[in-house]
Amino acid sequence: MIKLFQIKNYAIPNTIEEAYQLLNEKRANTLLGGCGFLKMGKKTIPTAIDLSHLGLDKIKEDENAIEIGAMTSFRAVEVSSILNDHFDGILPRAVKEILGVQFRNVVTVGATVYSRYGFSDFITALLALDAYVILYKGGKIPLAAFLAQGCQKDILIKIVILKKNTRAAFHAMRNSQGDYAILNVAVSKENNEFKIAVGARPQRAMIAREASKLLGEGQLSEAMIEEVSILAAKELTFGSNMRGTKEYRQILCKALVKRGIKEVLS
Ligand SMILES: Cc1cc2nc3c(=O)[nH]c(=O)nc-3n(C[C@H](O)[C@H](O)[C@H](O)COP(=O)(O)OP(=O)(O)OC[C@H]3O[C@@H](n4cnc5c(N)ncnc54)[C@H](O)[C@@H]3O)c2cc1C
Repeated sequence: MIKLFQIKNYAIPNTIEEAYQLLNEKRANTLLGGCGFLKMGKKTIPTAIDLSHLGLDKIKEDENAIEIGAMTSFRAVEVSSILNDHFDGILPRAVKEILGVQFRNVVTVGATVYSRYGFSDFITALLALDAYVILYKGGKIPLAAFLAQGCQKDILIKIVILKKNTRAAFHAMRNSQGDYAILNVAVSKENNEFKIAVGARPQRAMIAREASKLLGEGQLSEAMIEEVSILAAKELTFGSNMRGTKEYRQILCKALVKRGIKEVLS
């Protein structure tokens, strides 16, 4: 008999505190996002905690920041006028190639970021922006620090992105439409400050710090862009899997970084 994931009890709390209490009652109690990943596994869940009554599915904007609630779907990110109007629409662009609309209608921002998937397109795009995660217990943490730290049992409430006059670009290479990216790259520019984020290495996304710094300091010539792209491919580590070798990823990194820089300078 094929074993599927099983839920013993289903809870739909009305407060985040209630959800947190339920989560910590038993080790295997599990939060539900859109279940894209959960339903592919074989986990037996004593209590599954549905976060959909907590109002966490909103994208909001004020003078200083944009907030994306944890239960916001990728489709909502894709069609959001707020997100299309900021950062050159990098977040909608990063999710629009992920499988089909039906899939993007259900998968959620919170589950994606909390799970720190190495292949994630959304995380790479977010990393190039000034983004923070807000955890129920852990509070506000810069995304880069959150990605570097280990997993603690917590609830991701929302993502906050500081609103700046940021230019941004996202590029990914896939073997075929619908597949995971072999590599993805996001580049941002705010005045003279650049961030080059590279994901699907296949490890989780990281900022190429030396390359980003060099780009902010140098003359923005063709030769400098070439030098920065070589440095990014050199300072980051890459691995091999069924989608591509580490050598191929290194070559792709150079090409996609170059493309991203040229786009934010255009
Ligand atoms: C077949 C397939 C192909 C995919 N292809 C791509 C791709 O090409 N590019 C890409 O970027 N992504 C891809 N993804 C990943 C997808 O975009 C989502 O990131 C993924 O499905 C998780 O989102 P979910 O809402 O389905 O999470 P779920 O499966 O519901 O949950 C995943 C985990 O997150 C936990 N969780 C849920 N919500 C929270 C919260 N608020 N706080 C803390 N923990 C939480 C859950 O307990 C669970 O452990 C793919 C996924 C699948 C299944």
